[in-house]
Amino acid sequence: MAFSLTWLPDVLKDAGLKVSLVDGWQTRGRGDAGQIFGVICHHTGVNNPHKLNMPTLRSLKEGRQASPGLAALPGPLAQLGLGRDGTYFIIAAGRAIHAGQGSFKGQLNGNSNFIGIEAENGGNPQTDPWPEIQLDAYHRGVAAILEHLNKDHTFCCGHKEYALPKGRKDDPDLDMNNFRASVAAILSGTIPAPTLIPAVEPAPPAGGPAPRPTLRRPAKGELVKKVQMKVGVNADGNFGPKTEAAVRAFQKEHGLIPDGIVGPKTWKALDAV
Ligand SMILES: [Zn+2]
Repeated sequence: MAFSLTWLPDVLKDAGLKVSLVDGWQTRGRGDAGQIFGVICHHTGVNNPHKLNMPTLRSLKEGRQASPGLAALPGPLAQLGLGRDGTYFIIAAGRAIHAGQGSFKGQLNGNSNFIGIEAENGGNPQTDPWPEIQLDAYHRGVAAILEHLNKDHTFCCGHKEYALPKGRKDDPDLDMNNFRASVAAILSGTIPAPTLIPAVEPAPPAGGPAPRPTLRRPAKGELVKKVQMKVGVNADGNFGPKTEAAVRAFQKEHGLIPDGIVGPKTWKALDAV
């Protein structure tokens, strides 16, 4: 049976955020979550030299093995993963092992009473600065969840603020007062909603019969083949992970946001090659 946090994807999508459902998310959890009091923000702390989008997804889902200085932890390790491109990965609708011992506003059971978000970031501002698109999605996602819970911005905290004894955790590498100020601005409507990628191009391409749809995983068909030929992957008409990676690389090269989604701007750039 599904656990209780099945509202997460819709709440995030309604806020204009990109959402990716991880197989089995609805029934994943160390039991069900309790009454949700707020959100604890984390970063993954894994240094990934290639800056892949969400390399920790598997361990967030399945847990981690014991290693020197770290005990093994059963998964899931968060309900939500936040990729570097601002995509929310919905990992679990139940309870997650993300908080450990701590206290925030008198709440002592972080795992049962807080939603955990693990944002992909190595924790070193020199080598791993937060992409603007990820930070914006972090603020907006937390705001959307708190709004759904009928709570204000003061009900999100950093793991470093919650964890006891003090200093046990240093994540996330963000000023949480600034973070809450941004969440408050979104909740009060001071920051406008993001512009969503339109579902089709505003006009047909030059010489083309009709505006092209925005394509992303798992789209299929002739237009996907066209994209695949342009980005140099096997043109089988299935928009899968390899095509997505090639689209991201293409977008990076052309100064576009590397979200792996072929919308109007990416179509235009593809037309030019
Ligand atoms: Zn943490």
